[in-house]
Amino acid sequence: MQGTILVIDGVSTNRIMLKVQLAAAYYDVVQAGSLAEVLPAIRQHRPDLVLSAMSLPDGTAADVKRELSNDESLADLPLIAVSDIEGPQARLAALAAGIDDVLQQPVNDVILQARIRSLLRARSASEELNLQRDASHGFMLPLSDRSNSEELQQATVALVAQDPRAAKTWRDQLATCLPFGLRTHAISDIQGLMQAPVADAIIIELTEQSASAGLRLLADLRARAATRKSVVIAIPNPGDAELAAEALDRGAHDVLQHGFDVAELELRLTAQLRQKIHQDRLRDSVRNGLRAAVQDPMTGLHNRRYARPFLDRTTQAAAVSGEKFAVMLADLDHFKRINDLYGHPAGDAVLIEAARRMQAVLRPADLLARVGGEEFMAVLPGATEAEAGMAAIALCNAINSKPFQVPGSAQPVRVTISIGAVMGGGGQDLNATTLIEKADQALYNAKNAGRNQVTLPTGCIQAA
Ligand code: GH3
Ligand code: MG
Ligand code: MG
Repeated sequence: MQGTILVIDGVSTNRIMLKVQLAAAYYDVVQAGSLAEVLPAIRQHRPDLVLSAMSLPDGTAADVKRELSNDESLADLPLIAVSDIEGPQARLAALAAGIDDVLQQPVNDVILQARIRSLLRARSASEELNLQRDASHGFMLPLSDRSNSEELQQATVALVAQDPRAAKTWRDQLATCLPFGLRTHAISDIQGLMQAPVADAIIIELTEQSASAGLRLLADLRARAATRKSVVIAIPNPGDAELAAEALDRGAHDVLQHGFDVAELELRLTAQLRQKIHQDRLRDSVRNGLRAAVQDPMTGLHNRRYARPFLDRTTQAAAVSGEKFAVMLADLDHFKRINDLYGHPAGDAVLIEAARRMQAVLRPADLLARVGGEEFMAVLPGATEAEAGMAAIALCNAINSKPFQVPGSAQPVRVTISIGAVMGGGGQDLNATTLIEKADQALYNAKNAGRNQVTLPTGCIQAA
């Protein structure tokens, strides 16, 4: 089955007609005859979408929406209302109540199916994002609170039409009621649309002459990385259900199947932008969560979980290119004493400052990671023996050349570090595990030889 749809209607023949229509498209259909039956039916059948008659024996589709919104787990369940009242009034009221779309009785099968597909697609994309967020153990940003009008008001909207005058007419009408930054584009201006900052929403007019160019543009915008996250709304002008259905299938987030209407566009655009803001936040949250998983929160350096795959990648790349690279392990000397003498916060301050100083010595392409309490790993892709030697000594001197200011001590504290460096690549092609073992041995030698020094691959130990 493609998904489960709950059909709510007090009139059983209406339910049966819709059931036949939906079953023909391989949806699983469950039914409810009144508002009172909705929540029990949802709990029992877990539908993916709800299709409700606008008026029910004991309420309206807006009441259904309210019941769904009251339950956080159901708030995003797509809801389409079916109305037997002609005209925009009932449609606008339903959209204002948060209903995703309103279709006229008798329901046009093409637009119904396209709308269902589009809503199910959007729902599965947002569920996927939620799953990723949960799996990434991310920071839980206060998602709903910040979806506020401030961010919404800063949204920018591009109006696209074959005839720029049409776009300008729309702009003038929209400007009186919408707070968004509005710009206009010709339908051929894909370059202009992709230029940063890309509009948060793109509205495309589809006239009889421009329909195929408009649909192509729509599909293009949805496919390109630059515009993929923008909301795209298509407006057939004049209204055309079949064209609207095609736009939905090409990836439009929403359509105005009855043609341009300022009030309707305002409602749909605002709902889509709110959703986009929410999804952008979710995506950021996932990204932040992934970053947190590979970052040491205290020093801001990468951690061991990041360092090991980085070294593996460097090793593999060097095996292909024949280039050399350096691997270093560094360990602060007698660090325990700093904790013992001045307290743990002093130790933390030294770690943070040591990380900052060492990072400043390395090139942007080099990796510096905190791989243990007071242990660091540096990987320098492309470095020769001479460059590695100089970098190791520079790291050592970055620590010993200037005492550290720490809490718990009026006097700055002298700190030193020992470093073991080895070379990889260059045709030797030692694997990452071997390189780490050798670097660890080199570090051990530097410690044994008196600390505050580096052991280089040439075997010689140089005092810093
Ligand atoms: P060596 O020169 O042989 O490396 O001596 P050391 O004292 O540096 O080494 P040892 O392994 O005996 O002690 C490391 C200390 O680092 C012990 C531990 O409490 C401390 N440490 C580890 N992580 C942290 C941290 O995040 N903050 C602080 N303040 N101390 C830490
Ligand atoms: Mg140590
Ligand atoms: Mg140690």
